[in-house]
Amino acid sequence: MLEIEMKFSVSDFSALEQHMANWRATPQLAIEEADHYFNAPDRDFARTDEAFRLRCIGIQNRITYKGPKQGGLAKTRTEIELALEPGAEAADKWRRLAVALGYRPTAVVKKRRTCYDFQRGGFALQACCDEVESLGRFVEIEIVTNAEQKQRAQDVILQTTRELGLTSSEQRSYLEMVLANLPPLSLGTPGERREIQERSRLTPTITTTVADTRNAIAAARTQGKRIGLVPTMGALHAGHESLIQTARRETDFVVVSIFVNQTQFGPKEDLSRYPRPFDADVALCARANVDLVFQPTPEVMYPASFKTFVEVNEMQNVLCGAARLGHFRGVATVVLKLFNILQPDVAYFGQKDAQQARLLMQMVRDLDVPVELRICPIVRAADGLALSSRNVYLDSEQRRHATVLFRALELIRARIDAGERQAEPLIRAARALIDATPGARVDYVAIVDFGQLQPIERLQGEVLVALAVYFGTTRLIDNMLIDVGHVSNVS
Ligand code: AMP
Repeated sequence: MLEIEMKFSVSDFSALEQHMANWRATPQLAIEEADHYFNAPDRDFARTDEAFRLRCIGIQNRITYKGPKQGGLAKTRTEIELALEPGAEAADKWRRLAVALGYRPTAVVKKRRTCYDFQRGGFALQACCDEVESLGRFVEIEIVTNAEQKQRAQDVILQTTRELGLTSSEQRSYLEMVLANLPPLSLGTPGERREIQERSRLTPTITTTVADTRNAIAAARTQGKRIGLVPTMGALHAGHESLIQTARRETDFVVVSIFVNQTQFGPKEDLSRYPRPFDADVALCARANVDLVFQPTPEVMYPASFKTFVEVNEMQNVLCGAARLGHFRGVATVVLKLFNILQPDVAYFGQKDAQQARLLMQMVRDLDVPVELRICPIVRAADGLALSSRNVYLDSEQRRHATVLFRALELIRARIDAGERQAEPLIRAARALIDATPGARVDYVAIVDFGQLQPIERLQGEVLVALAVYFGTTRLIDNMLIDVGHVSNVS
C-alpha cells in the first residue's frame, strides 16, 4: 500500500476541530503513542530516507517499515505494517530480536494523537492532530491507497489542506526533527551541538552474551583503556546520566549494564511492570558517549543450573532489607557477576541507594574484588524529589506530595544544625511530617551509623538518615549522609 500524507505545523487545533465538526468527521479517542525507531545494520536509514519502527499504542504493538519518499508535493511512500502480540513483554522481545539482528535504536518519538475520519473525492481521509513531545503541535492529512490511485489521492490531499487553511507545511519526519533537536538547541555552541547531534546518530556497541562482552572489553584493554562500569536496571534518567558522565571523565571506556535483575525483586514486587524503555536508554547512552551497553537476558545471567548467591550479613537485613527480604542478596550477587564479566577498573553507584553502596563496599573488601567503587551524589528534581525510575508510577497528586521525603530529610538536617543530637525526636518529627501528607505511608525513617548501618541513639561521626515511604503501591526511598559536627548535604 502507499501512504500519502502532508504535515503542517500549527499553533493550536481549534480551526481544524471546527472544520471537522462542520464536515461531520468522526473523531477517534485520543491515544498516546511511542514510536521507537531503529537503524539498519547495513545502511543508514537517515541517508536512504527509509524508516523502521516499533509503535506502542497503550499495550498495542505494531512494527512498520516505510520506504523512501517518492516525488510529488504530498509525501508518498511504501508502507508495510504488521501487528505484534500486545503487551510490554512482546515489545521487549521484538526489540531484543531487532538488536540481535544488528538493528540499532536511534530515538523515541512520543505523541498524543487525536484522529478524525472523513470522506473526500471518493477517498477515506484521516486528519491527525499530534501533540509531539519536545516538538509541538502538528496536523497530518493522510490517505492510504494503491499505486494506481496515487495521483488522484495527492490532488485530493492538496485540495483538502487548502480548504482547511493549512499553510506551514513541514517536510521533515518527527524522527528527523527529534534527532535534530538533541540536545536542546539552547545548549552549547553551534559546533558543539553539531558534534553531539552527529554523535547521537551513532550508537554504542550492544552486547547480550558474556563471550561478546568479554571480547569487547579485551579489545579496549589491549588499547590500554581503563574500564568504567555503571550498573543499572535501565529506564535511565538524569541520575544515571550523572554517573555515566563521571565515568566518562574518569575512565576511557564506559560500559553501562542494563539488566532488570529478577533476584532482587520480592514475589509481590514490581518486576513485571518495571519500565524497560530499552531503545530510549540506548539513545541516552549514545548521547552520553557510552562505549558499550551490556544488556544480558535473564537466561544469560541466571541459567537454569544457577545455584550461588552472595550475602552480606547484618547489613542486608536492616533498613530497606527489612521490608525487602532477599533484596540485597540479589543485588550483591548480580553486581559481583557484573564485576566478573566486565572486570571494570572503577564502578559507579549512586548515593541514592546508600545502603546498597555501603553493602557493596563491604562485599568488595571482604571478597578482595579488584575494583574501585565511586559513590556519586543524588540527582534531584527542582522540587527536591530524588530522580528514580519508579517515579513514573506516581500519579500527579502523588508526585506533588512525594517531595515530603526530601522535606523530611531537610527537617532532620535543620534540627541537627540547631544542635539536636538524639535520634528519637528527629525520627518522630520526620514521621509526623510524612504522616500528615495525603497518600503517604511511612515504611521506615532511620538514623544509622554509615559504617555498620546499625541504628544509633546519639548522633556522632558520619550518620546516614534514610527513609522509605509508600505512595499507594509505589515505594520511594531517599537519604542524606550527615557528618555530625559539620553538617553537609552530599546530594
Ligand atoms: P537503578 O537503575 O535504579 O538500579 O540505579 C542504577 C544506579 O543509578 C544505582 O547506583 C543508583 O544508586 C543510581 N541512581 C539512581 N537514581 C539516582 C539519582 N537520582 N541520583 C544519583 N544516582 C542515582
